[in-house]
Amino acid sequence: MATMRFQSTRDVGVTAGFSAALARGLAPDGGLYVPQYWPAIALAELSAAQDLPALAAGLIGPFAEGDALASSMAAICAEAFSFPAPVVDLEPGRLAVLELFHGPTAAFKDFGARFLAACLARLRPPRSPTLTILVATSGDTGGAVAAAFHGRPGSEVVVLFPQGRVSPTQQQQLTCWGGNVRAFAVRGTFDDCQRLAKQAFLDEPLRQARELSSANSINLGRLLPQTVYYAATALALAGPGGEPVSFVIPSGNLGNAMACIWARRLGLPIGEIVLAHNANRTVPEFIGGAPWRPRASVTTLASAMDVGDPSNMERLRAFYPDDERLRAAVSACGVDDDAIRARIRADYRRLGRIWCPHTAVAAEVYARLSEARRRAGRWVLVATAHPAKFREIVEPLIGREVPVPASLAELFARPSAYREIEADLNALRTALARDETEAGE
Ligand SMILES: *Cc1c(COP(=O)(O)O)cnc(C)c1O
Repeated sequence: MATMRFQSTRDVGVTAGFSAALARGLAPDGGLYVPQYWPAIALAELSAAQDLPALAAGLIGPFAEGDALASSMAAICAEAFSFPAPVVDLEPGRLAVLELFHGPTAAFKDFGARFLAACLARLRPPRSPTLTILVATSGDTGGAVAAAFHGRPGSEVVVLFPQGRVSPTQQQQLTCWGGNVRAFAVRGTFDDCQRLAKQAFLDEPLRQARELSSANSINLGRLLPQTVYYAATALALAGPGGEPVSFVIPSGNLGNAMACIWARRLGLPIGEIVLAHNANRTVPEFIGGAPWRPRASVTTLASAMDVGDPSNMERLRAFYPDDERLRAAVSACGVDDDAIRARIRADYRRLGRIWCPHTAVAAEVYARLSEARRRAGRWVLVATAHPAKFREIVEPLIGREVPVPASLAELFARPSAYREIEADLNALRTALARDETEAGE
């Protein structure tokens, strides 16, 4: 039986097995892990899969071949894919929306975070020291990671978020967990939070006191599970004729889009892939022919996509080493906040649909495609979050309350607790140690 290995985007000689790649996150040379080869997937078998967990096991299983986790893949997928990813028609036969917001924190990041947590839990020998997952967040990632690890023995989560710079709804989702999840409001920006997390991973005293890990979005264990809902949607809509299905994907760090490209590479009937960006136009400008020019991010209504230097670009460029081939393989478009607002209003009136600001970016980018392109095949808008997560933005635009799904209502009802810290490593060290003493009292 073949053993799958993963190689660094920077050096094909730096490799790891499935488990090691997930545990490490980043390759030791600073690159990102990508598969050494593309396994042959039996599409007929995948099509016959009865549900999302079965399809997930069929699709991800070959990537874990020869690894310690291979035999647990069915159980891991059953645990991670415990909620649906429905495809809802907007214009029958032409346009549909893939709803990725039915998980515990109502954003697509639940899929990746839950898969990674289910894998890491099985990699730790019994009675190993507590694993501390340190996660810097500007909003959605922290909540998804906290939810995925909450209540799991042997692990704790420390969320770092910028004080006063996340919405009240987002803050509630970061600070409502208790138990093995702690939230620190950092007096600084998101960049300060990220810097603190990086410093912590390099800090000898901290690393001696606890085993640190990140559940960063560049982790292979968050990317691979995201191929599953593209596969499910493409197989469901392509029909027996295998007509390819095209996707418009709200994008920031390009993890979700990369997963779609991988799914297409695995042979799924996927046609066009359109990257929908907000006013952070690094990617649309590059795809449009300009040189690659990463920059600082600008703040927009679609805040989870406020990225000026997308981390997964390194994977994308490793996949298409020739820029011109990359530019032929995907397209990209950037839209500003005014267009997001107008699209939320218009589609509520026209379709009765309420979009979150990120999904609205995809809806707007689709609307800007030429009529000929839109008519050329079936299209799917990817809905990355539930609008109730961004109700402060959405409700004034549509003039009504956004219905809150049960999973979010439960989170909103929990008591919130967090500690404020200065944006420096000493403060983080002290806070980590102090909370432990208190918990022991
Ligand atoms: C994270 C996020 C995105 C961007 O996804 P990437 O994989 O970083 O491109 C889009 N929408 C929502 C709601 C998100 O939370």
